[in-house]
Amino acid sequence: MSAPSASNTFRAIDVIRKKRDGLELLPAEIQYLVRGYSQGEIPDYQMSAWLMASVLRGLSRVETAVLTDAMLHSGEVLDLSDLPAKKVDKHSTGGVGDKTSLILAPVAAVGGLAVPMISGRGLGHTGGTLDKLESIPGFNVNLSVARFRKVLEECGCAMIGQTAEIAPADRKLYALRDVTGTVESPALICASIMSKKLAEGIDALVLDVKTGSGAFMKQVDDAAHLAELMVETGERMGKKMVALITDMDQPLGQAVGNSLEVEECIQILRGEGPEDLRELCLELSAWMFYLGGVSASIPQGREKAEQIIRSGQALEKFREMTAMQGGDVGVIDNPKRLPQARFRTDVLSPAAGYVATIQCEQVGTASVVLGGGRERKEDSVDPAVGIVLHKKIGDKVVGGEPLCTIHYNFEARLASAKQLLEASYQIADAPPAKRPMVHRVIQGEKN
Ligand code: URA
Repeated sequence: MSAPSASNTFRAIDVIRKKRDGLELLPAEIQYLVRGYSQGEIPDYQMSAWLMASVLRGLSRVETAVLTDAMLHSGEVLDLSDLPAKKVDKHSTGGVGDKTSLILAPVAAVGGLAVPMISGRGLGHTGGTLDKLESIPGFNVNLSVARFRKVLEECGCAMIGQTAEIAPADRKLYALRDVTGTVESPALICASIMSKKLAEGIDALVLDVKTGSGAFMKQVDDAAHLAELMVETGERMGKKMVALITDMDQPLGQAVGNSLEVEECIQILRGEGPEDLRELCLELSAWMFYLGGVSASIPQGREKAEQIIRSGQALEKFREMTAMQGGDVGVIDNPKRLPQARFRTDVLSPAAGYVATIQCEQVGTASVVLGGGRERKEDSVDPAVGIVLHKKIGDKVVGGEPLCTIHYNFEARLASAKQLLEASYQIADAPPAKRPMVHRVIQGEKN
């Protein structure tokens, strides 16, 4: 008699119950779940139950490592060792207006690195790189592995999503977590991010771990715990790692929403655009250059990134990548070619004073409500809608002045988005204390 296959050794219901009761799972049980779900043998409803049990009960470090490994090996691990450049990537844990990937990939490629970036879609209230890129008409984020390699070899950067070949388990689990309230778990975030990144065949990884009201980890200490988990996972696999714990207590830059964010990235690549976004991009690029060995220090890396943007080479690189991935390069010279919402309306300040806080998660949710994200798995995303912030924390306002502008296509979606935005701004008599952009840096030991 042949040995029983994994699928008839375990039952999903038993593994769900075990996690529900707070017990530690065996590696084989986790492997069974990942394999069964990836192959369509375990249905969404059982996987959702297991995800929720894992969010509530937590996963141990060993369980997290086994989950990451099982997700990584659900598909192919790229071997890019024939490319002479150092392969370095950056990944964020998710934020609102968090659009740095579109800027960093071309900057790093011009600086001599290869950036094989595998990204995700919007998750919960946060935006996703793939949805942003797809707002560029024709931009294809579903390249075959062969085409992905070709773009990477010729252009120095390529940006795609999880595929049937690379990290397929994350592709399915990510979409399920998005709509089942099961994102906010350090273990699940670590496994999701690290399975994609380790599949890329990189040498080094810069993690942008967000903290604050718009992040999944609201407290700096929780963000630091997640950062340590991911740095440890990457180091175990022989990668150079660093995690920057960065501020997400308000949206990054001014634009929230897919087309609007692409337009803002083009501004930064032109040497314009909001200062906070530019600042974070310079810092993250500097770490990419440092870990990739093309700069001897972070200040040198920053200088290099500044020069690359100033020279216009980063914008040209973005044009080259867009062309190679089938996108309309006309949007780069004329961002109004990006999908535009039919209507706009302002949210006005109820009083004079200073912006004290912006409930950042609510701003992200407002964008989802407008259609910029998904409330169900089958939803499609409206690339045109979103919010442009005119006032950020610490800014002075007069009563009746616009705090932000809503870009929308459907009247029925406007009221609740507007309510969320009105409630998210708090105006005070005095300016608040300034929060730093980078709260902490957690470095791996190999750096
Ligand atoms: N980014 C990912 O890729 N996965 C998560 O779970 C969160 C952010």
